[in-house]
Amino acid sequence: MSTFGLPHVLSGKVRDLYDAGDDRLLFVASDRISAFDNVLASTIPGKGKVLTQLSLFWFDYLRDIVPNHLITAAVDAYPPVLRPFHSELDGRSMLVRRARMVPVECVARGYLSGSGWKDYQRDGSVCGIPLPAGLRESDRLPQPIFTPAAKSHSGHDENIDFDAVVANVGAPLAEQLRELTLRIYATATAHAESKGLILADTKFEFGFVSGTDLNGSYAEHGTGGDGGVLVLADEVLTPDSSRYWLASGYAPGGAQPSFDKQFVRDYLLSIRWNQQPPAPALPDEVISQTRAKYVQAFEALTGSHLEF
Ligand code: ATP
Ligand code: MG
Repeated sequence: MSTFGLPHVLSGKVRDLYDAGDDRLLFVASDRISAFDNVLASTIPGKGKVLTQLSLFWFDYLRDIVPNHLITAAVDAYPPVLRPFHSELDGRSMLVRRARMVPVECVARGYLSGSGWKDYQRDGSVCGIPLPAGLRESDRLPQPIFTPAAKSHSGHDENIDFDAVVANVGAPLAEQLRELTLRIYATATAHAESKGLILADTKFEFGFVSGTDLNGSYAEHGTGGDGGVLVLADEVLTPDSSRYWLASGYAPGGAQPSFDKQFVRDYLLSIRWNQQPPAPALPDEVISQTRAKYVQAFEALTGSHLEF
């Protein structure tokens, strides 16, 4: 793996992060794909570009609601040492401000699915929020809820209640996170719905950056006391951080087909893979169908055509 001449900071299942100096990070989205928590042996060509371009679309779309960590995605404006890697970085990378990350995964849910559905089946609530009885899997909730999770470095994030967030980061920041998360979710949901997609749930990460020359006004958005300005970080509203469903096929009362990974999951179930490493490769047909879904999501949400 090329490190672009920069110190490697970390690699997640899909993205690689590098230290670009001066409190900046280089995020590079690969074409890797995960399913059932494993990175598969095949890549989906162009997926990293789709995810990056979608994040960029949403950062811009949300700019009046929340400032974000993006410095630029124009490779020509990156530090000069990165110029030789133009073709590898173009379209799939972002230069961002290094943030002091808030240690809470800020999840918003408008529908009952995934770990929310699991929790609800256990005791009728999600993250300590009681819900009406009799809801079915994938049902729309009476109103969107903030369902934070604690980041886990081994395996699954753990759902926590609002009091745990307060205990962790203090009441003022906890309330700010809840308010922002629900506001961003509402804005994004309305847009997705207008494009025929349901945004069932999504996860945001926030962090503090110093400095006043952000892509949002310092005074308007306030500060975190001594800690700088709260910004939206990480990736936003991509199929990797969100559950999108096709509105036309929505049928509560069971799990909904995953917009992007359904072909992959169906294939992996069909070969009865035991979901333990090593993960199998995918047939060409599944790769091309999946690639088309990512492109479809991008084009539906942004209204623009993606050039590879
Ligand atoms: P997974 O692949 O399961 O998501 P992961 O979360 O460890 O694993 P990534 O999501 O690729 O892998 O890692 C991105 C990391 O960068 C996360 O820990 C995230 O909190 C962090 N991060 C995002 N934006 C910033 C930022 N502006 N400054 C510092 N850290 C950031
Ligand atoms: Mg992550």
